[in-house]
Amino acid sequence: MEFRAPNGVRNSLSGDTEAVETHEAVEALKALIIEKNLPQTDVAIFGIKCPYCGKSDRIHRLESPEDLPQSVDDEDTAQYGVLWHTLNPEAALLGVCKFCHNPLELQVRAGLAKVLDKGP
Ligand SMILES: [Zn+2]
Repeated sequence: MEFRAPNGVRNSLSGDTEAVETHEAVEALKALIIEKNLPQTDVAIFGIKCPYCGKSDRIHRLESPEDLPQSVDDEDTAQYGVLWHTLNPEAALLGVCKFCHNPLELQVRAGLAKVLDKGP
């Protein structure tokens, strides 16, 4: 899927439903996570179960856009920022399962990881 320009998130999706927008943003974020090997802090949050694959020792918290390492270039950082804010409207934490590479919404205090893409 072509999904490079930071503002392509909105432009390419005008007229689509929110579910589709979320789906495409999740796919774009997932691709960026895999390409850049994010998060680069290698600390797993134990005891939170991945809703996709069921592993409970592979969930990592994603860096917020301001905390991305220098090795990620400006264009990718900008795209990451757009995707982060698209998927994270309530300032919940985002995480990723390092086993199945799916981005997740984290509720650390509740010990939960939730699917971001609720599906169409
Ligand atoms: Zn998983």
